[in-house]
Amino acid sequence: MTHLTSTEIICPHCKYSFRVIWEASINTWLNPELIQKFLDDKYYYECPNCMKQIHLVTKILINCPKGMLWISNDEKIETKKKILKDYDVINEKGEILAPIMGIDLPVEDHPGLNSNLAKEIKKFKNELLDKNNNNS
Ligand SMILES: [Zn+2]
Repeated sequence: MTHLTSTEIICPHCKYSFRVIWEASINTWLNPELIQKFLDDKYYYECPNCMKQIHLVTKILINCPKGMLWISNDEKIETKKKILKDYDVINEKGEILAPIMGIDLPVEDHPGLNSNLAKEIKKFKNELLDKNNNNS
């Protein structure tokens, strides 16, 4: 689940304290748009007292089909991209991949499979891939 949390921050300019809401964890397949926000580090909040922009620096739990990891939002974009690429959250071009939820694609050309079953698996796989492509 993508999990929101609120935290109190103190404005470094005027010392006013106020609460902000941010994503403590991001579920990459439910909220891929938040990955873009994370990559772009759009964790800026306006101080309601002096109207200056304040940057929230925090570790965010990225929850993706390959596992979970903590990354700080103020890491360099190259670092974030490299890590997210290792976890198949984004591709080489930095585009967010729409993962097939929790399903490991079966192998249809396993020598132990009879041909009918292999055909069924192939069909199932293509349907999944089609569905995935249409969603993106
Ligand atoms: Zn302020």
